[in-house]
Amino acid sequence: MKISKSFYWEMGHRLPFHKGKCVNLHGHSYRVDIGLTGKPDSNGILMDYFDVKLIAAPLIEKLDHSFMVFDGDTDLIFLLEKMNSKMFLFEHQSTAENICLLFLDEIKNKVSPNIETLTVRVCETLDTYAEAELKLR
Ligand SMILES: [Zn+2]
Repeated sequence: MKISKSFYWEMGHRLPFHKGKCVNLHGHSYRVDIGLTGKPDSNGILMDYFDVKLIAAPLIEKLDHSFMVFDGDTDLIFLLEKMNSKMFLFEHQSTAENICLLFLDEIKNKVSPNIETLTVRVCETLDTYAEAELKLR
């Protein structure tokens, strides 16, 4: 059985290494789909959607209306601090792939014990996504 719940947030970022447009300051309306597989309990519930929200909400709250900054992007950090703007300092580049791994890492130890695989899909735009899957047992 597989269930999935989606969450949305708005966030600015840039990719300082990028040779194209992504080097510029810009933002996306992000979506993350959290997929869970395993055996439902005797009531037919794999994991309560409310509990999925509980484990995802703290990270979503940190990301929403923030600017995600690679911690080596010192000029941008200086600027955002000067503007007193909400920032999410990230030790990796702010690619959809790395944001995927951030979500996996954040929630992998918080899912119900019956969950067998955890899949995280991060969509930066309507037609692109990065997805990573973790086998938990
Ligand atoms: Zn972008």
